[in-house]
Amino acid sequence: MSGHAIDQRTWGERYDRTLMNTFGHPRRVLVRGRGADVWDADGKHYTDLLAGLAVHALGHAHPAVVKAIGEQAGMLGHISNLFASPPQIELGERLVPLATLNAPQTPARVFFANSGTEANEAAFKLSRLTGRGRIVAMEGSFHGRTMGALAITHNEHYRKPFEPLPGEIVWVPYGDAVALERAVDETVAAVVLEPIQGENGVVEPGEDFLPAARRITADRGALLWIDEVQTGLCRCGRWFAHQRAGITPDIITVAKGLANGYPIGACIALGEAAGLFGPGQHGTTFGGNPIACAVGCAVLETMASEGLADRSERLGEHLAETVMALGDPRIDLVRGQGLLRGIVLNRPIAAGVADAALEAGWIINAPRPSVLRIAAPLVIAGEQLDAFVAALPGLLDAAQGRV
Ligand code: PLP
Repeated sequence: MSGHAIDQRTWGERYDRTLMNTFGHPRRVLVRGRGADVWDADGKHYTDLLAGLAVHALGHAHPAVVKAIGEQAGMLGHISNLFASPPQIELGERLVPLATLNAPQTPARVFFANSGTEANEAAFKLSRLTGRGRIVAMEGSFHGRTMGALAITHNEHYRKPFEPLPGEIVWVPYGDAVALERAVDETVAAVVLEPIQGENGVVEPGEDFLPAARRITADRGALLWIDEVQTGLCRCGRWFAHQRAGITPDIITVAKGLANGYPIGACIALGEAAGLFGPGQHGTTFGGNPIACAVGCAVLETMASEGLADRSERLGEHLAETVMALGDPRIDLVRGQGLLRGIVLNRPIAAGVADAALEAGWIINAPRPSVLRIAAPLVIAGEQLDAFVAALPGLLDAAQGRV
C-alpha cells in the first residue's frame, strides 16, 4: 500500500476513476514533506511556496505537530459534543487573548468547527440571532463553499449553479467606505469582509477601510465580522491581519493555519456577540475534537516561541523587495502583507507561470490571470525564497513561450 512504489501516472489514473471531479486531474500526487520541501510519487522534489493554500505555517511534518497528534491520539481522540476535553478548553483560552489584543478587556467566546467555511457558517447563524437578517458582503470576496458561506462569496462561477442561496445579501465594492456607509442601516445584521482578499488575488483595501467599517457598523448596531481564515495566525505579520488597523471586530473566523493542516476552524465572537448562541442553536460532531485542539495549542505555542509573526513580516518584505529589484518589465508590483503576497504581472500569463514553476520544482498558484500567489510556510529559509526570485524571470520566459 506504500505510495512510494507506485508512480505519479498510475496514481493519477486511479484518482480520475474514483474521486469526484471537483478539482480536475491532480497536478501532482505528493507523498512526503519536511519544512518547505515536498516530494511527489516519482521522488521529484519541490519547494513549497504555497503551504497547502496558506495553511501549514510551520511547514510539513513539524516536530511539535507530529508530537501533539501522536500524544493526543494515544490518549483520547474523539469525544463528541456531549463532552469537553482539556485541549479544547485550552485552545479557546489561548485564542481569546490573541483575538482581543487591541482591546484586552473584551469578553470573547469560541465555537470550534472543522474548516473555514464551517467557521463562517457558524458566524452567519450567529448574526441571525441579532434579530436582523441582512448581511453586507464585499465584491471579490471568498468565504467558502457551503451554502451560507457561498451566499456571501461574490464569484458568480461558484454561486450560480447552486442558487437559490440564503438571501438578503447586499454587495459593496471592496475598500469603498462611502458605499459601505450607504449600505449599512438598522436592518443589517453584519458586515463581513476579509482584511486582504487572498482568493481574489491578494487584494488590499486602503488603510482607512477597516477603521471606517468599524465605525459604520458600531454606529448602526451591526456586527463587524472579519474573515481571517486565510490572513490570520501570523500569515500577514500579525496574529490577525486586521490588528494592524488597531480595531476590534465583533466576530473573527479562523481556520487554515490553526492546526497546521489538521482540520479545524473557529468562530470567535467578541463583546455582546459572545453571548448570542444558546444551547442547541449550533453544533458539530467533530468540531473541537481533542486531537485538532491539541495540535492547535502546539501551533500557537510554536508560533509564539519561534516569533513567526515577525518572521513572516520580515521575509514577506524581503520577498517583495527582491522581486521588485529584478526590474523585470513584466512585473508591475508585489502586494499583500507578511508571507501572503501577490506578484502582479502586466499580462495574463500567471497560470502558465505556475505550471512552469511546478515543472521546475516550485509550488505557487495563480488566483487571478495576472497574479501569482506566494503563501509559503513561515519557517521557510530566506535562501529558498531567494532561489525562487532568481528563477522567476526564467519562469516568466517559459510561460510566454507557451502562449
Ligand atoms: N474564507 C477565506 C478567506 C478563505 O480564503 C477560505 C479558503 O480559501 C475559506 C474561507 C474557506 O475555508 P475552507 O476551505 O477551510 O472551508
